[in-house]
Parts: sequence; structure tokens; C-alpha cells
Amino acid sequence: MPWMEDRDPYKVWLAEVVLQQTRVEQGLPYFRKFVQKYPDVSHLAAVEESVFFKDWEGLGYYQRARNLLKAARCIVAQRGGEMPTSYEEWLRLPGVGPYTAAAIMVFAFERPYPVIDSNVARVLARLWNVAGDVSRAPQRQELHALYEKWRGRHSPSDFAQALLDFGAMQCVAMRPDCASCPLQRYCIAHAREVVDDVPPRRKTLKEQVYFHYLLIEDHRHRVLVTKRRNGTFWSGLYEFPVVESKEAFLDEKGLIAHLAAATTCRVMLHYTGLERHQVLSHRRVHARLYRFSVLEGVGEHDFIQQYKQGIWADAAQMKLLPMSRLMDFFRQWWLGQITQSS
Ligand code: SF4
Repeated sequence: MPWMEDRDPYKVWLAEVVLQQTRVEQGLPYFRKFVQKYPDVSHLAAVEESVFFKDWEGLGYYQRARNLLKAARCIVAQRGGEMPTSYEEWLRLPGVGPYTAAAIMVFAFERPYPVIDSNVARVLARLWNVAGDVSRAPQRQELHALYEKWRGRHSPSDFAQALLDFGAMQCVAMRPDCASCPLQRYCIAHAREVVDDVPPRRKTLKEQVYFHYLLIEDHRHRVLVTKRRNGTFWSGLYEFPVVESKEAFLDEKGLIAHLAAATTCRVMLHYTGLERHQVLSHRRVHARLYRFSVLEGVGEHDFIQQYKQGIWADAAQMKLLPMSRLMDFFRQWWLGQITQSS
């Protein structure tokens, strides 16, 4: 892997963050782009958040990008740009948890920390048939002890990489190919025919969220976009003004009633027929796009005053704004409409 060539802690850290919850084939081009554009932590600390979000677009889980910038700024402000060299120092940085700190200590400094992600936890749990939820403290302790014992005198980085690869490619979560597995004769879960139940799967109920995006254009072919506020998912990314609902999509009457509460104008909505869905770690977002205009009343200007933080973006500006994958679909559609009509 390219971040292993010179064992630079900055590159190892960058790679670990980029590749969290991301496949290597998908993350690698981003890693290469970031190393080229931000060759060290000072360059990364100096970039504006919205510019970095644009570079990050497509990777998802924007909290990672936000924390990466915060941590880079801490390293520059508090350590003069010198990268931390101990596990404890890494753990103090925003977004760096025990797994990331351990991986950096192993791959950049060849220090013997257990590198246990969900794939490695699954391998260890199956080989030794560890019962129960592997995210809980007693099981984590057991896995750490098994990892240390198995590693023995092997190189920390070689052992960690081999186990990470084995978990990602051979001992996969669903239907692993045990017949071809070189560890089959040592595997207790296989011997007891309980592979599919180890570790037990956790059922997470995802919250459903319904977005009604409003496409509001002016006569200069500009469109109103707003930045999502802090404390919400996708905060810092741009989108069309949105009406959110938790239960289901609102019908047009319900949507107009909702909008009427916020304005004295008579408004007109037209559903474009465009609907998109995106699954996030804790929720599913369903979105529809409506054309919106004001028919009469105190005027469009007053309605738009609600979106004081909004900007009127033309096609060129729209292409530069960082957006979620879901919103990017609507943006591309709108850009296509603009091209057709101009
Ligand atoms: S035998 Fe199957 S369950 Fe056991 S380690 Fe190999 S792939 Fe994983």
C-alpha cells in the first residue's frame, strides 16, 4: 500500500481515516489526491473546510473529514506541526479512537499494539469461538489477549496487515469459503458448525428521514442553496432549501400547508418526479425534488428571507459547492436542465 512506502505517520494517519468504512479501491484515489494536494499536516491544517469537503465529496461520513481538519489544526497549533509519536498522544486528537491510534503506532512506528477492526474481531471470534457481542468490554479484552498471544514474535505490521487482509478477503461476514481456508483445521466455530452465528449480528434500526427539496430559481438562472447547520448530519454541506419530515413524504397539500405556516404568500409547487434514497450509518434518507415559486402575497423576497444563510448560485458556483451524494444527483439534474435551456 502506498502509505507503507516510507512509513510517514502523516500518510498512515491520512490513509487510516480515508479507508474507515470505505473499500480500498474506492479510497485509494482519494488518498493519492490528498497526498498530492496536502503533502504534509501544515498544508492540510490550512485548507478551508468547504474546499476540503469538495475534495472529500463521494467518500461520505463527513464527520471524518471534519475531525481530520480539526486534528491537523491541533497538531500545527500545539505541536508546531510535529506528528505525535505515542499512542496516548494520538488518542487525544479529534476523531482518533483506539483502533486508529493502534494502527498508526503499528504501521508507522512498528510498535506492538493490537489492530482490531470489525474484520479482525470476526476472525478471532470465529477461530476461538468467542461468545457474545465483540464490541463489549469483556469480549474486547479477550480478543486483545488472543491477538497478542497469536502475534508472538511476528513483526507487528506484517501480522496486523495479514490479519486485516484475511478478515477482508477470506473470513468474510456472510458465507465465508471455509472449504478453501488455510486455518480451517484450527477454527473452533467451523468445527462446531456455528460460523454464521459468530460473532452475533447486531440489529440496528435505522431512522427514516424524508426530505422535500425546493428548487427556487431566479430569472438569472441562479438557484437558492443553503448550508446545512451544525449539529445535523451532513452539516457544512450545501443543499436546496428543504422541508424535513420523519413519518413519510408529505403530499403536495401537506407540503403547501407546511410552507404556508412560514409565509403569507401563495406558493406553487410542482413535483419534478425525481426521487432519491441514500443509506447512512444510522438513517435512511429519502428525498424528492419540487419546483417552487411564489404566486402572490408579500413576495418571493420575504419568503426567501427565511434562508438568510442561503446563496444564489449560478451553474459555475453550483459545481464548486460540496454536497452529499444524494444532493449531487439533484444538482446534476439541474445543471443538465440549465444547459438545455441556455
Ligand atoms: S474456517 Fe471459515 S470461519 Fe474459520 S477462519 Fe476459516 S474462513 Fe473463517
